[in-house]
Amino acid sequence: MESLRFLLPERELPQRWYNAVPDFPKPPAPPLHPGTLQPIKPADLAPIFAKGLIDQELSTERWIEIPDDVRRALALWRPTPLVRARRLEERLGTPARIYYKNESVSPAGSHKVNSSIPQAYFNRLDGILRLTTETGAGQWGSALAFASCHFGMDCTVYMVRVSHDQKPHRRLMMQAWGGKVFASPSDRTGAGRAVLREMPGTPGSLGIAISEAVEEAAKNPDRNYTLGSVLNHVLLHQTVIGLEAKEQLKLAGERVPDVVLACCGGGCNFAGIAFPFFSEKLAGTPIRLVAVEPTACPTLTRGRFTYDFGDTAKLTPLLKMHTLGHGFIPPGIHAGGLRYHGVAPLVSHALDCGLIEAIAVPQIACFESAVLFAQTEGIIPAPESSHAIHAAVAEALRAKEERRERLILFNLSGHGHFDMASYQRFFDGELEDYAHPAGEIERALRDLPLARVVTPR
Ligand SMILES: *Cc1c(COP(=O)(O)O)cnc(C)c1O
Repeated sequence: MESLRFLLPERELPQRWYNAVPDFPKPPAPPLHPGTLQPIKPADLAPIFAKGLIDQELSTERWIEIPDDVRRALALWRPTPLVRARRLEERLGTPARIYYKNESVSPAGSHKVNSSIPQAYFNRLDGILRLTTETGAGQWGSALAFASCHFGMDCTVYMVRVSHDQKPHRRLMMQAWGGKVFASPSDRTGAGRAVLREMPGTPGSLGIAISEAVEEAAKNPDRNYTLGSVLNHVLLHQTVIGLEAKEQLKLAGERVPDVVLACCGGGCNFAGIAFPFFSEKLAGTPIRLVAVEPTACPTLTRGRFTYDFGDTAKLTPLLKMHTLGHGFIPPGIHAGGLRYHGVAPLVSHALDCGLIEAIAVPQIACFESAVLFAQTEGIIPAPESSHAIHAAVAEALRAKEERRERLILFNLSGHGHFDMASYQRFFDGELEDYAHPAGEIERALRDLPLARVVTPR
C-alpha cells in the first residue's frame, strides 16, 4: 500500500532553528525607537522581553541551537506529520502531487505553540514566572496558556471583549491550562480604564488589548510580555515546520517542491514553512514561495512597504513592513488570524528582495476549498488555513489544465474545531466577499508616522 503519512522519529526533531537574516541579498531595515527614530537597542526591549529572545530578535547567526528543554516540550506533538493529499488529488483529477504539513495536531490546535513554548522557556530562564499577552479570538492566548502551564508559570491574557463574550471555547481552553483571562478593555490597567470611561460599551480591539498587556508587563518587573507573530524571534521558532518538511519530502522520495504555500496574517507560519527553502531558492532551484492573504486584508499585495507602528495605540517600535496603516479597521472576515494591519518585517523584506511572492484570495472560495479538503482529507481546517488550501487547489487545477506534473507543498496551520460558527455562516449563504476599497487604504496610509521623515540610514 502506498504511504500517505511521512513521519520522522522524535530524535529527528530539528536541533537548530534557521535564521534567514544573513541570507538576504541586502540587510533588513532595523526597528526604530518611536521617540528617537534611532534603531532600537537591546536595552530598549529589556523591560518587557526575555534576554534570550532579544538576542534572537537581533541575531545575524544563521543557525540557533534549540535548548533541550524546548525540544523535549515540542516532542509532545513534534515532528508533525507530512501528508500526501491523495484523495484531494484524485478528486481534482490533477497530475500534481500535493503534500501538506499538519500543524493542527498540536495541543492548542495550531502552529502557535511552536513559539509559545520557547518564549515561555526563555522567560523562565531569566527568572520571570509571569507572562502577559493579548488575544483576539484566542489562538495565541491558548497557545501561551498551554506553554505557561507546561513550565509552571502564571499567564494573564487580555482577550478582546467581543470574542471573550461571544466565543467562550478558547477562553475555557485557556482556563483549563490555568490561564487568567480578562475581557479587554478591563479596569485592571490605566489604558483599559481610560477606554472604558470614554466608550463604556465598546467591543474592544486588538490594539487596546495590546496596550493593556504591554502596560501590565512594563509596570511589573516580575512580568514580561509576549507576541504570537510578526517579530523575528517568532518567525525563527516556526522554522521547525519547514526544516522537518524538507526531511520528510526526502523520506517520501521527493525532489524540491515547485511551490510552497501558506496563509499569511502576521507571517510566522508562512516564514516557518518557506524560509528554510531559501537555500534552494538562492542556489537557483526553481521554487516559488507564495504567501496567501485575504482580499479583505491585502497587506502584502496592496499595502505600502514603510515604517509603521505595530499597534493602534502607537506603543511599539516602528517596524519597516508592508502595512495598511496602524489605523486600519479590519472588515468582518472570518479568518481572525489574518486581520492584522501589517506583516512581519522579514516577510516584507523577502518580498522586496524578490525571494517570495504574495497573492490575495476571497473568503467564499476559501471556504469552498476548506469543505472540499474536509470531505477528502478528513480534517476541518481553520478559516486561516483554508487560504493556503485554496491556493494549493488552484495550483493543482492549473497543473491539470497544462497537463504537467507539479509538486505542491502547503502548511495546514490549524484545525477549525472552534470556528464552526463561521462554517455555519458559509453553509447558510451569509458570507460575502470583501475587497478592501482603495480609498480606505489611501486614507489609512496618509498618517503613517514617517511619511514626513527621511528614512534613516
Ligand atoms: C494565528 C494563525 C494564523 C496567522 O498567523 P501567522 O503569523 O500569519 O502565521 C494562521 N493560521 C492559524 C490557524 C492561526 O491560529
